[in-house]
Amino acid sequence: MQEISRTTTIFRAIQGQCPRCEQTTLFKSKYLLNTHCSHCHLPIEKEDGWSLGAIPLNYAITCVFWVLPLAVLFLIGILSISTTLIVAGSGCLVIPIATYRFSKKLWLGIYYAVLPHELEFIYKK
Ligand SMILES: [Zn+2]
Repeated sequence: MQEISRTTTIFRAIQGQCPRCEQTTLFKSKYLLNTHCSHCHLPIEKEDGWSLGAIPLNYAITCVFWVLPLAVLFLIGILSISTTLIVAGSGCLVIPIATYRFSKKLWLGIYYAVLPHELEFIYKK
């Protein structure tokens, strides 16, 4: 069995490839994950609710890369409160949709990087 690092696992997932074999794309459509890798049968969508970990990642991306910079611009006086709220609110509606796929891929990579024994355990079946 090929040994891979945790970093490789995350990068493969972020690139949309199976974290174990790199042979399959993770999504069967724009927003739906495949349930299993078609090559090595690694579970990609394990059960209902399994990929909910992508939600805090999506939230963190939105806060760190959108809301926080806007808050800083407001605090140093570049943006008014109304402009800040309108731009932040608009971004909070659009950015989670725009980063949905990335969040799912990142969550998958982190999951298998933190629990690499599941890659091996599933591989041996
Ligand atoms: Zn695979």
